[in-house]
Amino acid sequence: MGPVGPLLSEFDARRQIVRACRALHERGLVAAFDGNVSARLPSGSLIVTPAGASKGDVSEDALLLCSPEGRRIRGAGQVSTEVQLHVAAYRARRDVRAVVHAHPPLASAFTFAGVERLLLEPVLPEVVARLGKIPAVPYATPGSLELGRLAEPFLARHDAVLLAQHGAVTLGGDPWSAYLLMEKLEHAATILKAARELAGSEEAIRRLTPAQVAELMATYGKAKGPPRR
Ligand SMILES: [Zn+2]
Repeated sequence: MGPVGPLLSEFDARRQIVRACRALHERGLVAAFDGNVSARLPSGSLIVTPAGASKGDVSEDALLLCSPEGRRIRGAGQVSTEVQLHVAAYRARRDVRAVVHAHPPLASAFTFAGVERLLLEPVLPEVVARLGKIPAVPYATPGSLELGRLAEPFLARHDAVLLAQHGAVTLGGDPWSAYLLMEKLEHAATILKAARELAGSEEAIRRLTPAQVAELMATYGKAKGPPRR
């Protein structure tokens, strides 16, 4: 996941979650009440967006304080059933301190169209170096415990995953970093869609060669952090 900064205070976690929510809404990565963002506090408790709220106008004091299992401790409103995805990510990874779940239109469409395999292949250097393969978790009913259970082994090994016929989840050391990965995933999907259309077929898209991938990883690989500009 790259270097992780200091743990955020509850105040800063709430502020960053709201910033991430607004960006998700402004970028069209969620619609209506879709999506949820959370952060893990030093105590292990979670700060989570409430169900049934537009990410465009969620406020710091509307966010819920929840137990590590996703049960509400403080705050008005309901916990989203999708909190199970967040709980699964925190259970799988000690380094993860924030989770973003959204329905990015193009990245999600890859699983509806059955072309999600492209996100496993070495096409975009930045994605290869920072995220590696982006797998798709098999379909389960959104918000079900089953989806959390299916997603957990994928979240244990990847900072960005697709949820088949549903959306995507990204992980970070803080809410803004997790948001930026969601933005990056959707941007990658946008380029791949354009490449597929211009190339005329999935097979005609140019992949990086194994030597190019090796060189890329030696220069920018995960242990050395994301590519710098
Ligand atoms: Zn969802």
